[in-house]
Amino acid sequence: MSDSQSSFDVVVVGGGMVGAAFAAAIADLGLSIAVIESREPLRTWPAGEIDLRVLALSRASQRILERLEVWERIRELGISPYRQMRVWNAVGGGHIHFDSQDLGEADLGHIVENRAIQLALWEALESADAIHLLCPASITDIEMQASGARLILTDGRSIEARLLVGADGRDSLVRALAGIETEGWDYDQRAIVANARPAEWHQETAWQRFLPTGPLALLPLADGRCSIVWSADDARAAELMAMDEDAFSVALTEASEARLGRLSLDGPRASIPLRLQHAKTYVRPGLALIGDAAHAIHPLAGQGVNLGFLDAAELAAALDLGLARGRDIAGLWTIRHYERARRGDNQMMLGAMDLLKRLFGSDQPALSSLRGLGLKVADQLTPLKRRFMEHALGLGADSPPLARR
Ligand SMILES: Cc1cc2nc3c(=O)[nH]c(=O)nc-3n(C[C@H](O)[C@H](O)[C@H](O)COP(=O)(O)OP(=O)(O)OC[C@H]3O[C@@H](n4cnc5c(N)ncnc54)[C@H](O)[C@@H]3O)c2cc1C
Repeated sequence: MSDSQSSFDVVVVGGGMVGAAFAAAIADLGLSIAVIESREPLRTWPAGEIDLRVLALSRASQRILERLEVWERIRELGISPYRQMRVWNAVGGGHIHFDSQDLGEADLGHIVENRAIQLALWEALESADAIHLLCPASITDIEMQASGARLILTDGRSIEARLLVGADGRDSLVRALAGIETEGWDYDQRAIVANARPAEWHQETAWQRFLPTGPLALLPLADGRCSIVWSADDARAAELMAMDEDAFSVALTEASEARLGRLSLDGPRASIPLRLQHAKTYVRPGLALIGDAAHAIHPLAGQGVNLGFLDAAELAAALDLGLARGRDIAGLWTIRHYERARRGDNQMMLGAMDLLKRLFGSDQPALSSLRGLGLKVADQLTPLKRRFMEHALGLGADSPPLARR
């Protein structure tokens, strides 16, 4: 493909995990595709170093990445299975335990570094003939026309797209330039991410304790360490970030009720502001939003990119269907299939996580005993637990083709 090409069937703005997965998923549909990404992915990192940004990947995401033929590369770069999940409540008691064995599955999912997924997908894009990578590159403006979108790049170039896909994350410029509004709110919480070494073995279990100031998750890594995602109200997060290493380790051990013995901070910390956000529409003629550009969710159940990969798979399926029926790939007849398939599911997950955040974030006595009781009852209701695990594993029948067994 020539470097001077300036007109494409599909232009994806944002080659992060979701945008790259989408481009890889449509690489064989006979379309010309460009991906505009502002940052080159990291190619190497020191052995044994674990990044601060890791994800809990569902089985549905794993299947999508397998079908895109990048899972082996991700496995080579490093994955950590988790086989059980234990969730408990700091105020009001109650706990719930999920075990992959109850479903006859080897694990409930995998903990993977963001950069490993990003690199594996990027390498797949580099080897796909139909994909033209513009990186580092960014956009400054978009003009929507009847024939598609015209994008102006920061270096002055202009690119035509029959279909423009915004996969440029939570602060999406594509969404803003297209004038698509969002609904949602700031949580006034920050997620502190770090790695820690527990005194005891983590048992390949994802641990989550709900504190009134926000949930603390300990995600098991293959080398015995845990990746920490500690969501806390802004004031508490500022205190935690200001602590020295020892004080932070003590606070972390206390917050985890020392379930894994003493936790020792291992390396730096970072904190990320949390927000619930949902685009009022995912599609317009000639335009679709996917991943965090369409929805941002509280990380308490580790769902963000899992939802984003399902978006990518559904939009790819919608284009495939549109092409098979001889329809315009950028027309609403084609891309509305994607919005219909994903919006309800995303809305439900955003709502459920928001409810959990509020329910467990309150220290009102009535609510604390109610949620303690709720956890105890849910732990004993095998069919309910099974449904929950099946959903978390993405074993439902209504998955997009790329995510099916
Ligand atoms: C603390 C924390 C923990 C989380 N844990 C989990 C978890 O366990 N499981 C899970 O599923 N999700 C988790 N998430 C959510 C997950 O990180 C996001 O859902 C995911 O990163 C979204 O991917 P994306 O590709 O849509 O967007 P992003 O990852 O934001 O990628 C957007 C890409 O677009 C590029 N870009 C942006 N603007 C432009 C532009 N103008 N031009 C060109 N390129 C541009 C950026 O460089 C970037 O590469 C977590 C989030 C947080 C904050």
